[in-house]
Amino acid sequence: MQPIQMVDLKQQYAKIKTEVDTAMQEVISSAAFIHGKAVQDFAAGLSKYLGVKHVIPCANGTDALQIALMALNLQPGDEVITPSFTFIATTEVIALLQLQPVFVEVDPKTFCIDPVAIEKAITPKTKAIVPVHLYGQAANMEAIMEVARRYNLYVIEDNAQAIGGDIQLSNGATKKTGTLGTIGTTSFFPSKNLGCFGDGGAIFTDDDQLAEALKMIANHGQAKRYYHDRVGCNSRLDTVQAAVLNVKLQYLDEYIAARRRAADFYDQAFGGHAKITVPYRAPYCNHVFHQYTLLLEGVNRDELHQFLAGHGVPSMIYYPVPAHRQKMFDAFGGSKYELKTTDWLTERVLSLPMHTELSNEQLQFITGKVLEFINKQ
Ligand SMILES: *Cc1c(COP(=O)(O)O)cnc(C)c1O
Repeated sequence: MQPIQMVDLKQQYAKIKTEVDTAMQEVISSAAFIHGKAVQDFAAGLSKYLGVKHVIPCANGTDALQIALMALNLQPGDEVITPSFTFIATTEVIALLQLQPVFVEVDPKTFCIDPVAIEKAITPKTKAIVPVHLYGQAANMEAIMEVARRYNLYVIEDNAQAIGGDIQLSNGATKKTGTLGTIGTTSFFPSKNLGCFGDGGAIFTDDDQLAEALKMIANHGQAKRYYHDRVGCNSRLDTVQAAVLNVKLQYLDEYIAARRRAADFYDQAFGGHAKITVPYRAPYCNHVFHQYTLLLEGVNRDELHQFLAGHGVPSMIYYPVPAHRQKMFDAFGGSKYELKTTDWLTERVLSLPMHTELSNEQLQFITGKVLEFINKQ
């Protein structure tokens, strides 16, 4: 049996090595490392795949969120509603831009921001909502967009963990995650569902004017070279990374299917266990399983983690400290929040290995070890 990893990028690379090596070599030979052809090709390819009008590549998923917020021309102190149960980047950029993060609860089943909690948190200063499609499951975008329309708020979808996911709308239409809000963002960090060989990110929108603003901001605030009309930053996707992504985008649906197969195997093994809740699958979307995260009840999670590690099975807590409890947010009133569901989840979640290369033998071993520990407690 191959050693078990949280994410196995070596084996995934081995299967597409020839294609990726050729694509990378072409970039190296052309020496067009910045703004090379592969970057435009990738933007066009991803825009077609997602069914969104504009894709603006950038340097990473955190920049994507920051640039998206910068394009909305918000004022210092404007409030942005966001979950606390997320990776820090989602909330960090809000604070970085001198905006006020307003942390709200997540739905205990989907782990994503609760639309009812959003509405309760709205004040006259609220300008935007940043939902996160956590672990690969979409937030309830239809309900979120409905609240946003009623209160005239922008929505930035943090799609770093759910690229390629589908959302079924009540009118029968299907849309890709990240394309329902005002702006969508994603990350191509190597371990993400669509990952490159370093850092990368992208921003999506159907709005022509916003697309122009996003492009300018990512490029030092210039539309014409050396004429800087607004404050921007320097955030580019390298050509080499775009070349890798052009190859991997062709496999994204296969990668998602492989993740879903692994999730089905886990569900089979754990479903119905009194101490284990397997990931809920919301009826309005297809879960793309960036993570496979269990909710444990009456299990010593740290001991389970140690036990698994002792048998060569990695496991992770995403995330051990919710955003509102991070020191970073002391100055933003983080400690005043009481988010019971978020705290409750934080104490009980455990993510198991999840990637495109998990074999049945590995899955059998992992599930066997988890059950061996839990059943003897
Ligand atoms: C990974 C991630 C990001 C940030 O992406 P980077 O490319 O690492 O900057 C933002 N939000 C979420 C939810 C993520 O998982």
